[in-house]
Amino acid sequence: MAPLARGAGGVYAPAVPTTDDVVVETRDPAETRALGSRLAAVAHPGDVIALTGDLGAGKTELAKGFGRGLGVTDVVSSPSFVLMAEHAGRLRLFHLDLYRLDGPEAAIAAGLLDEREVEGVTLIEWAERLGGELPLRRLEIRIETLADDARRITLHATDVAHRRYLEVAR
Ligand code: ADP
Ligand code: MG
Repeated sequence: MAPLARGAGGVYAPAVPTTDDVVVETRDPAETRALGSRLAAVAHPGDVIALTGDLGAGKTELAKGFGRGLGVTDVVSSPSFVLMAEHAGRLRLFHLDLYRLDGPEAAIAAGLLDEREVEGVTLIEWAERLGGELPLRRLEIRIETLADDARRITLHATDVAHRRYLEVAR
């Protein structure tokens, strides 16, 4: 199987918002996890989910729900010292957390983007830290804090295949 199509390098180019972006507001962590689970129900091998948002926005909460929706039985958490955790489920989940990453080169050097990922789903926290190496075909999820427990979650598909997720997010 061909590896995931990677960007051409350079800087991270955030997607231009389009009218079919989906915006969801959640009122507590459970709602964010529930959204993650709904998304996982339509996951296909080779999908890439790029999560962005400040520290404490809720990226890991969404990842936990996504893991549950994929049938992952071990704990999806913030890996403290590792950049990637792998979980068995209906599809294999590659959970990357690039918070501690110096730059895109480090991710390549560490083999964080490899050809095995086409067999599972790759979910990347702090995806913008991959710069232009971020796979071009992806679902982008941006989480913003509105108030204490309120979050605005914006979903954008960069290709037709990832539009599948928009239908179930609404
Ligand atoms: P990140 O991975 O983006 O740094 P986490 O998911 O680890 O963030 O943490 C999010 C924090 O915000 C948790 O403590 C969670 O309980 C809290 N929280 C409050 N409201 C929400 C919400 N609506 N969605 C997600 N997390 C929320
Ligand atoms: Mg996190």
